[in-house]
Amino acid sequence: MGNSQNNQELERRTREFYALTQVAKTLAAPLDLAELLDAVMNRLADALEPAELGVIMLWDNSAGLFRPAAAFGYKLHDIREMGLRAGESITGKVYDEGTARLLTAEEIAQAMADMRPPNRRIMSRAVDTEDLPHSALVVPLRVGERKFGVLVLEILHRPTQFSSADLVFAQTLADLIALAVDRDRLENEAALTRDVNEIDRLRAEALAALSHELRTPLATIKGYSTALLLEQVQWSDTKRREFLQLIDAECDNLTTMINDMLDSSLIDVGRLVIEREPVRLPRLAREVADEMQTHTQVHRIVLDFAPDFPLLDADPRRIKQVIRNILDNAIKYSPNGGLVVIRGQVRATDVVVSIADQGVGISPEDLIPLFEKYFRVKSPTGYHVPGTGLGLPVARAIVEAHGGRIWAESKVGQGTTLYFSLPRAGLSEGA
Ligand code: ADP
Repeated sequence: MGNSQNNQELERRTREFYALTQVAKTLAAPLDLAELLDAVMNRLADALEPAELGVIMLWDNSAGLFRPAAAFGYKLHDIREMGLRAGESITGKVYDEGTARLLTAEEIAQAMADMRPPNRRIMSRAVDTEDLPHSALVVPLRVGERKFGVLVLEILHRPTQFSSADLVFAQTLADLIALAVDRDRLENEAALTRDVNEIDRLRAEALAALSHELRTPLATIKGYSTALLLEQVQWSDTKRREFLQLIDAECDNLTTMINDMLDSSLIDVGRLVIEREPVRLPRLAREVADEMQTHTQVHRIVLDFAPDFPLLDADPRRIKQVIRNILDNAIKYSPNGGLVVIRGQVRATDVVVSIADQGVGISPEDLIPLFEKYFRVKSPTGYHVPGTGLGLPVARAIVEAHGGRIWAESKVGQGTTLYFSLPRAGLSEGA
């Protein structure tokens, strides 16, 4: 080996070493996978002298396609549209074989012969020429038995070819890239298990809280019915009536809770059915208000709807449930009583119903998770109000299934207003 050859060899190795350290450094950066691969390809464009084009093709199992994850030399915007099927073109073949390949012009043409025309057009557009590369290195991206895709490096116009030394080097690069892809996969899996555990924990807590909530009305019912059944006690008619009323009210509470639980699980599995028909919202609100007014003497429920309030295309049973859940809270969370106002406003494209109480109110930080399942404000006074934390999430699901929105405003100690909107579209005025 002559001196100049030695020098060339040394130069190549130095270049490779430099490229490797650059790539390794880039891959250690705390970036997400897409950004990492972009950065690596940018590095390679500088560091890997003869290569003019480079692309990382990753197998996307859900799409059943190889997709470009990052590239250099290609116009990114164009190459991103490429989608190769299993076995298609060089990518598909090297992935299947699992071994790195150094391809000549002829082998490239052969391997690409089955590339589908749309992909071929994308490729030409991405390099602004119909010419095919005349030298290519294609290396599988794998960690152990796990395959992720391939790294493709190509020479298009430069008067030089890849060598078998380049092939070994490219495989080292590909191994580094594959490690980064694998790390990303492991991190995603870990995050997923974490989420599942967290969900399980929340569900267990919620279930415990729910059972407790169900027990409270049951204890009342049991207590008063046992009392009524006591043979040795003669209850006065007023007392009997009072006990029966308490039992009746607690049965209503239980029914509401169980319905919310059932609806919530229906919503979870996407089975909430909305049966639309022309609906007179003020009339529905009146019915719910009358029903609720019988449960309280300290609250006064008043309605304020415009006389020309439009007919809506909605599910009357479900909309009643929304009003009932909100109104029930308005009463439950204003223990000192007061005015509860149900108002209906008509806007250009929708209607807005608001239900305002003069109760305990909700602090700003508790307003954020208000519509989340099982969320209940922790009462600082220790004053316990029975509930499931499902009333508002169920109301939200119903309103959103109608194409509307639900939100709340509140001031601690002054009261709360719940709003929901429903679209007017679909029915002609006064029909
Ligand atoms: P539940 O009433 O069964 O606990 P909800 O989903 O209906 O469940 O309500 C969630 C929580 O939001 C309640 O526990 C309560 O802390 C708070 N909240 C709802 N409506 C009001 C209101 N009108 N005033 C004060 N707090 C309310």
